[in-house]
Amino acid sequence: MNYEFDTVIVGAGGAGLYAALEASRLHGAGRTAVVSKLYPIRSHTGAAQGGIGAALGNVEEDKPEWHAFDTVKGGDYLTDQNAAIILAEDAVRAVLELEHRGLPFSRTPEGKIDQRRFGGHTRGFGEAPVCRSCYAADRTGHMILQTLYQQCIRNRASFFDEFHLLDLLMDGNRCCGVVVLELATGQLHTFHSKAVLLATGGFGRMFQITSNAYANTGDGPAVAARRGLPLEDMEFFQFHPTGIRGMGILITEGVRGEGGVLRNRHGERFMTRYAPTLLDLAPRDMVARAITLEIKAGNGIVGDKSVDDYVLLDATGLGKAVIEEKLPDIAEFCRTYQNIDPADTPIPVQPTAHYAMGGIPTDLDGRVLCDGAGGVIEGLYAAGECACVSVHGANRLGTNSLVDLVVFGRRAGRHMAQFAANADLCSVNVSDGAADVCALLDQLKSGSGSVKPGTVRDRMRTVMMEKIGIYRTGSQMREAVAELQQLRDDFRHIRIEDPAAAYNTELVEVLELRNLLDLALITAACADWREETRGAHARDDFPERDDEAFLNHSLAWLNGRDVRLGTRPVDLSRWEPKPRVY
Ligand SMILES: Cc1cc2nc3c(=O)[nH]c(=O)nc-3n(C[C@H](O)[C@H](O)[C@H](O)COP(=O)(O)OP(=O)(O)OC[C@H]3O[C@@H](n4cnc5c(N)ncnc54)[C@H](O)[C@@H]3O)c2cc1C
Repeated sequence: MNYEFDTVIVGAGGAGLYAALEASRLHGAGRTAVVSKLYPIRSHTGAAQGGIGAALGNVEEDKPEWHAFDTVKGGDYLTDQNAAIILAEDAVRAVLELEHRGLPFSRTPEGKIDQRRFGGHTRGFGEAPVCRSCYAADRTGHMILQTLYQQCIRNRASFFDEFHLLDLLMDGNRCCGVVVLELATGQLHTFHSKAVLLATGGFGRMFQITSNAYANTGDGPAVAARRGLPLEDMEFFQFHPTGIRGMGILITEGVRGEGGVLRNRHGERFMTRYAPTLLDLAPRDMVARAITLEIKAGNGIVGDKSVDDYVLLDATGLGKAVIEEKLPDIAEFCRTYQNIDPADTPIPVQPTAHYAMGGIPTDLDGRVLCDGAGGVIEGLYAAGECACVSVHGANRLGTNSLVDLVVFGRRAGRHMAQFAANADLCSVNVSDGAADVCALLDQLKSGSGSVKPGTVRDRMRTVMMEKIGIYRTGSQMREAVAELQQLRDDFRHIRIEDPAAAYNTELVEVLELRNLLDLALITAACADWREETRGAHARDDFPERDDEAFLNHSLAWLNGRDVRLGTRPVDLSRWEPKPRVY
């Protein structure tokens, strides 16, 4: 079937829903479609625990300018500074708007939105930690999704739940719609539209240990890359310091924001040696590296056969009441997965692959860029974790993703609605547009069947973890590139054995694996290219930051078996790059 809409939004997490809210508000009912492979409130945004950063100054003095500076410094100066300033200034309005739309934030005794500390967020340009994260206990993302979804329904946006994006309809440099698979029937549909926004979230599932949901498979960026568009800063993948050992399930930084501390096996608060001012609240890249170094130095707690060594997150000083009131889900996770009560026993943690700083390059209004000189693809937008504005640079600060979703999701939604109001549907032949997808599905049904998807998936995740992890070296990264190329070749021999049309989860998982493989290859190739250490990209063979050669965003194009690389300048309009000390 072919549907026609003014605007089509792919993804119903925080970014997609905010864009949908804005577009449907400007367009009126029935002209905005939201296509989502998950039921909207199951999107990964719902897992966000710690909070959303905004310089409200409700608990102590704070200013958007400090927030913008922290974002730039936290990103190791690869952050576009004009984007960081918009993020910090607009965050205040966005949080108040969420409150007015019904989000039940936790409160101070006087009834204001409460705020807690988070890594890398400081007052006075780095003097000391500041309370900036606005939160709803440890269910902030869940509340954001509920609030936005209700408001989108109220605006009569049209939802297509469990519809899976497979391709973009393109006419040269103009995007004309999308091709999707309806999971309930196995039918292919086209959505013909004036503007499309990709808001498909992250791709942590390419790593073995990750905090990411199963659905985080990078479908949007992979589809864009296969359509010849570049991806930006893909070498920067954040490891969150505190995942539950062996599982990667996230223990929010909010635990440290409330006063929890990291300890090695001697009981030592080791962050005093790595970040004397911010200690456990240093940015994530630094804390994840510190944990790795402690473990390497033999100061970790030795895991059993199935689990690597780990360290402890000690929240016993917080007291039962604070934990149950402010971190109830975390307490529940600890009881469920570790059989411990965090009020009495320190939590065993190790770093977990968490957040993609890179993604589809966009300008400040979410328009997708096609080159390093600011050229755009007409009618195509991206926002949220799948996009790269770039506001997180080489390392995102905690709470800044939720801000990114609402600030840049809103800007993109508004711009696309305005664009669509003045544009016509382009005259693309929609059945031609779906031809590539049909060919792929035929190939998957008729492959030799000699390769098992699970084998390819496990190998990819191990290669990424071992060779493109927290510390990287050139020789290992080149091995990773070669192995991933081979795995992509192997993929052609996969055959779908389940013939079902309805809810063919085998087919969906194979399609998602293809996306992850493409993005893993690009990530590995970009990481090998960047011969310096910056933010989350730490190299044993190039341990220093090299502003002379690498103070640039990377752009990467998928080119058959290879990846072609280029650059894009960083906006440095406000602060001069300095060494990062915390
Ligand atoms: C456990 C955890 C805790 C976090 N805590 C915080 C926090 O406290 N503060 C913070 O700032 N950040 C946090 N983050 C990061 C932040 O939550 C995410 O970066 C953010 O929610 C991503 O939002 P999104 O809208 O871009 O995508 P998502 O919320 O991931 O939504 C993606 C959407 O795209 C849809 N989609 C994907 N592929 C397809 C396809 N092929 N076809 C159709 N639809 C598709 C999905 O159905 C879904 O609706 C956390 C992340 C995790 C994993």
